[in-house]
Amino acid sequence: MHITRQRPDSRQGPAENFTGTVWLDEIAAPAVPSRLRMFNVHFAPGAHTAWHTHPHGQVLHVLEGEGLVQRRGGDVEPIRAGDTVWIEPGEWHWHGATPRTFMTHLAVVEAAEDGTTAQWHEHVTDYPA
Ligand code: MN
Repeated sequence: MHITRQRPDSRQGPAENFTGTVWLDEIAAPAVPSRLRMFNVHFAPGAHTAWHTHPHGQVLHVLEGEGLVQRRGGDVEPIRAGDTVWIEPGEWHWHGATPRTFMTHLAVVEAAEDGTTAQWHEHVTDYPA
């Protein structure tokens, strides 16, 4: 058993993968054989990810605020505190805040064998005004 009382420093989401101000807080990344990775992700108003996929899918659980999520070919969907989204393995999608509200979600993935948790693609061009 291991109790974490002091977290790693918050990391800012890199500009190649995110638009706007995004902060990532690692909640859990246990050693092998676990492949679990948990982050709290804090999006400022208007901030969002680029298009991406996850090798084993992703759970998003909205903790605070109002946000948006879209899968390729689908509508932009509103999400708010208490909502949980399952992203299928390999499904192209993006997620983030609405243009005028903060949003924080818990993001849970399983890393691939090589340790990667996402494949990043182009920035979102049709983010709503
Ligand atoms: Mn994702």
